[in-house]
Amino acid sequence: MATQGTNTSTQLSPEALDGALAPLAAALGDRLLTPGDAGFAEAATVFVGGPERTPAAVARVRNTDEVVAALAVARETGLPLAVRSGGHHQARHGIVDGGLVLDLRLMDRVEIDEAAGVGHAQGGVLAGAYTAAAGAHGLATGFGDTGTVGVGGITLGGGIGFLSRHDGLTVDNLLGAEVALADGRVVQANADENPDLYWALRGGGGNFGVVTRLDLRLRELGTITGGMMIWEPTPTALTTVLRAFAEGPDEFGGMVNVMLAPPAPMIPAELHGKPIVMALLVHSGTAAEADDVLAPLRALGPVLDGVQAMPYPAMFEGAGGPPPGAMGDTRTGFIGEGTWSPDETWAAAAIDAVSGAGGPAALNIRAMGGAIGRVDPAATAFAHRDPAFMIVVFRGALAVEELPAASEWVASTAEALGVSERGYVNFMGAATEQDVRNAYPEATLARLREVKRTYDPANLFASNHNVAP
Ligand SMILES: Cc1cc2nc3c(=O)[nH]c(=O)nc-3n(C[C@H](O)[C@H](O)[C@H](O)COP(=O)(O)OP(=O)(O)OC[C@H]3O[C@@H](n4cnc5c(N)ncnc54)[C@H](O)[C@@H]3O)c2cc1C
Repeated sequence: MATQGTNTSTQLSPEALDGALAPLAAALGDRLLTPGDAGFAEAATVFVGGPERTPAAVARVRNTDEVVAALAVARETGLPLAVRSGGHHQARHGIVDGGLVLDLRLMDRVEIDEAAGVGHAQGGVLAGAYTAAAGAHGLATGFGDTGTVGVGGITLGGGIGFLSRHDGLTVDNLLGAEVALADGRVVQANADENPDLYWALRGGGGNFGVVTRLDLRLRELGTITGGMMIWEPTPTALTTVLRAFAEGPDEFGGMVNVMLAPPAPMIPAELHGKPIVMALLVHSGTAAEADDVLAPLRALGPVLDGVQAMPYPAMFEGAGGPPPGAMGDTRTGFIGEGTWSPDETWAAAAIDAVSGAGGPAALNIRAMGGAIGRVDPAATAFAHRDPAFMIVVFRGALAVEELPAASEWVASTAEALGVSERGYVNFMGAATEQDVRNAYPEATLARLREVKRTYDPANLFASNHNVAP
């Protein structure tokens, strides 16, 4: 499935490997884990399951100096390197067979500078923890919809979520970063310092260095109107939700899934395992404005209406998405432009596809438009600014042997539904050269390559949607 970029991988003998890791072992103590150590199995596992990948070592770093020390080992030995934050990328970029995993999860400090309106997150902070810390001050930065996703990964790829139509993508709110580079230097990237790197970090993924600190713009956000709504799987339900996004105010955002209902207690038992239309919604305006926007959705007679006044961080409580370790394949692309919304024929085909998938499947459709589309496509490395919706086509697999069938369903469903080839790097299940070309328009990719040649000419950072130098 996923093919990752390569750096100069060297096969080291066990003795040579021990020797190469010795300085790092001295610096990290029991936070350098090798196969057989207590805690290694957990440290070497990412959120998405798949074929066995066993790293040679996992370095659980705590600060920028330790990041630099781990990078030196990878650089000097040629051990393939993976940088892991929340570990949620579908292509399992956060783990590398036979290589060194730089695990940032202990770098989990968040500082909220209320006066400056800036949140500082270390490179391993999770979206839910940041959102809770900012929420305690009545402030927020928009990420996605799931608290266990890493701020590092989601931000570097783009970041689309509940607040994006109002505030832009997460990259549009990234004011600066501290970056540990392949050559061991630690630099700042912002509008004034290393602006080429700053541009590339906003959508170019983990290609350019280890981001040890992100500076993110905060907005005031207290109580929102938000939560989950579920309807019977009718084309009218699906098109009504999509139209509400496309025609709604910027304050209204979220996503809608066509999926098989999980056996969750809040979902009526008779729907379990059956197709449903399920939306996660946020309206960040007044309650009266939210009621107006929600009226057509409520008029459809939802089987569950959990949308209510709540503090914004409550949207991130509880697990999101498939359970940890779940396997499957995804394809992502876009549908429509501007204020387009699909007709009932398209919606019926979408519902039929999920109903006939023969296993766990979902179409996840995210509202774009609003502030996302008002940013110049050349301003950041995330350049696909014009679509009306992003769609993720997902088919689960219960075992590794079922992955090819899952991929086939994903490909044929994406084609039948007219999903664009161009897509969003953070939801891509595969990481071939073609996927990289689909993630970035030609001019963006050419500029990313230029930045890569400046900051990582030897391609140390290759376990990602790799921009070849
Ligand atoms: C359940 C689920 C829900 C999701 N919801 C959303 C959503 O609502 N919106 C959305 O936009 N995306 C969403 N995503 C996709 C998510 O944004 C990507 O999977 C993202 O890459 C995850 O980041 P991570 O840090 O958790 O992953 P990781 O796998 O740890 O990292 C992903 C990539 O980023 C690099 N990276 C991570 N941190 C750093 C860092 N500090 N410095 C340098 N490189 C780094 C890694 O090397 C790797 O290449 C979701 C994914 C899942 C599984």
